[in-house]
Amino acid sequence: MKKVKFGVQTDCIHYADEPERFLGAVTPPIFQNSLFVYPTFKKFSKALEKQAQNYVYMRGNNPTIEIAEKKIAKLEKGESAKCFGSGMAAITSTILSFIKAGDHIVSVRNVYGPCYEFLSSYITRFNIETSFISGFSTEELREAIRRSTKIIYLESPTTFTFQLQNLSEIAKLAKQRRIVTIVDNSWATPYFQNPLEMGIDIVIHSCSKYLGGHSDVVAGVVVGKKDFIEQIFQSEFPLLGGILHPFDAWLLIRGLRTLPLRMERHFNNALKIANFLESHPKVLKVNYPLLPSQSQYQLAKKQLRGGSGLLSFELKTDNIKEIEKLVNSLKIFRLGVSWGGYESLVLPVAALRKDEKTEKIQKELGLSPYLIRLSVGLEDAKDLIFDLEQALLQTRS
Ligand SMILES: *Cc1c(COP(=O)(O)O)cnc(C)c1O
Repeated sequence: MKKVKFGVQTDCIHYADEPERFLGAVTPPIFQNSLFVYPTFKKFSKALEKQAQNYVYMRGNNPTIEIAEKKIAKLEKGESAKCFGSGMAAITSTILSFIKAGDHIVSVRNVYGPCYEFLSSYITRFNIETSFISGFSTEELREAIRRSTKIIYLESPTTFTFQLQNLSEIAKLAKQRRIVTIVDNSWATPYFQNPLEMGIDIVIHSCSKYLGGHSDVVAGVVVGKKDFIEQIFQSEFPLLGGILHPFDAWLLIRGLRTLPLRMERHFNNALKIANFLESHPKVLKVNYPLLPSQSQYQLAKKQLRGGSGLLSFELKTDNIKEIEKLVNSLKIFRLGVSWGGYESLVLPVAALRKDEKTEKIQKELGLSPYLIRLSVGLEDAKDLIFDLEQALLQTRS
C-alpha cells in the first residue's frame, strides 16, 4: 500500500500499535519484565553494545513504553521521544543534559513551580545561573542572553495566567546564537500546538495532564531530534533513572487514543465557561488565551489551533473568605491539584501550602493569592455553568 498521511485521530488510534508483533493483540501487552534474556553470548553482547536499538533492561527500552513514545513523537511531529516517570523527571533530565558548571540559562519566570525552584535554587549549587524574563518581548530575551547561555527554557502558555512567548521569533534568535530551546507544551498538547514546527528544538510534556487524561497516571515525555533523544537515552535517562513503568505507559497509550476527542470537548467547554465568567458581574477578570479580550489574543491565534480546559479568574473581592465560600459551594468542580483529567477541578491559589518557601516563590512568580484556577473537564457545559452560577450566588463582592 502506498504510504498515506493519516489524520491525527487515526494516528492516535493506530500509529505504532503493530498488533502483528503481539499475536494480534488489539491493545498491546504490558511488558512487565525488568530484563530481557538472550540465547547466545554473541547475541547478548551485540545487544549490550547497542542498547538504544535493543531490549536489555527496563532502564532502557521496553516494547509497551516504546509505543507511547512513537505515538507522541508522531503527534508532536518530532523525530523521536523518550518517556520518563514524571514531567519533572523529563524536565530536570533534559536541562541537565545541556549544561555544565559555569553555564547560563534564560527562562520564562512563570514556569511550572517546581521547575522554577529547580532553576532558581537547586541548580545553583552546580554553579549554573538562570536569568528569568517575562517572555513578552524578544528584545528582553536578547538582553538576557550571555556568551555562556546554553538553554532558553519556555512554557507557552504558562499554566496559571496563560502567558505566551513568540516561539518562532525566539527559535530564530536562539539558532543564530546556537542556544537550545526547550518548550513545555503541556497546556496546549500536540493536538493544538506543535512548537517543533516553529523551530523549537525540544518539547516536553507532563503526560500526567491531558496526554494521560484520566487522572490515573504520572508520566513525562521529551520529544526532539534523534541525536538528542539518543544523548539523553545514554546519559540522564539511565543515570538519574526517572523511568516510566510499563503499566503507566499502557494507561498513557489508552489515554492518547482519545486525545483529539477529549481536547475538542475541553476547548468547547472552556470557551463557554470563560465567556460565562467574563460576563458575570462578580468576576473581575478571566485568563484564557483564546478569548478575544486577552492582550496576547493575536499571538494565541497564530500559535494555537485551539485551547485546553485550564483557565483562571479573579473575583471582584480581595476577601479570601469569599473565595473559600465559592469553592466550598461548588458541587461538580472538586478541590485538587493537577489538571487535564476528565473531571472538573478548582484550585484557589490561596489554598496552596502556606509555608515560607512557597509564599516566597508565589511572590517571585507574581502569582495573585486571589487567583482561582479551573480545570474544565468533559462534563456537560450547562451543568458546569450551573454549578459556577449557584456558587457565585453564595459570595459577596
Ligand atoms: C504538572 C506539570 C509539570 C510536572 O509534571 P509531573 O508529571 O507532575 O511531574 C510540568 N509542567 C507543567 C506545565 C505542569 O503543569
